[in-house]
Amino acid sequence: MALLVDTQFDLPMTESLQAAISAAHRGVSVTTVVNTHANGDHSWGNQLFGDAETISSQACAHGMRGEVQPAQLAALSGPQSPNSALGDYMRRHFGHFDFSGVRVTPPTRTFSGRLDVQVGERTVELIEVGPAHTSGDIIVHVPDAGVVYSGDILFVGDHPIVWTGPVENWLAACDLILGTGADRIVPGHGPVTDPAGVRGFRGYLELILEAATVFHAAGLPYWQAAARISLPDEFTAWGHRERLVISVAAIYANLGTPSEDILTVLRHTADQEGLTSRQQ
Ligand SMILES: [Zn+2]
Repeated sequence: MALLVDTQFDLPMTESLQAAISAAHRGVSVTTVVNTHANGDHSWGNQLFGDAETISSQACAHGMRGEVQPAQLAALSGPQSPNSALGDYMRRHFGHFDFSGVRVTPPTRTFSGRLDVQVGERTVELIEVGPAHTSGDIIVHVPDAGVVYSGDILFVGDHPIVWTGPVENWLAACDLILGTGADRIVPGHGPVTDPAGVRGFRGYLELILEAATVFHAAGLPYWQAAARISLPDEFTAWGHRERLVISVAAIYANLGTPSEDILTVLRHTADQEGLTSRQQ
């Protein structure tokens, strides 16, 4: 028996993951799948683990229904997508995935707060830390191995996306990870990191929260605020700076500004990616 943290964005990638698991662990079958949150890049392969119990937070299961659906994403990023800055952006970032055949498959078991799962001799702790990146984030702590699988509570080498916030919960989630004493942290995106990596990332979140709050008070639109946030050297090499537009929009919403339609936010994001790439 084995527990898998998150599946992949499409079925071919999830099949590759299954092949890699079989090659690395002969004869071992995945009996439990944990979805750390509702984004498709962590859960749209669930249907290929039909024999396993699939676990997420209740808020994550609810969130899966509200996510953009595979057919919509395929239409927004496929060859027929609109000939516009947004269409170009979506094709560039999502056009190489194959969303055909994906059925959004919700978990078979949900929880709120904490849940301990037994995997053979090993106890695995599932800890709800959202809403932060999304409405239903959880982290997976394996105490006897000193490992935390953080899902998208941690991005390494790229800017994260704040979909929902509040960022205050996200800061608390970083503290919780540090408080476990784990020395290896497996992020949702990027290479494995350590507590110093978590502290650095926490610093980024504090910085954007503070800057966005100041710009919000000054009445600056969120996309202009995102462009004006100045980052110290340690963060300027990170990829996808344009994601700050989505994050600042979420921080503004947490501060009481009515949320804009996601396509409008993405349009500003696409425009800003164009601007930052022209500056480089
Ligand atoms: Zn992700």
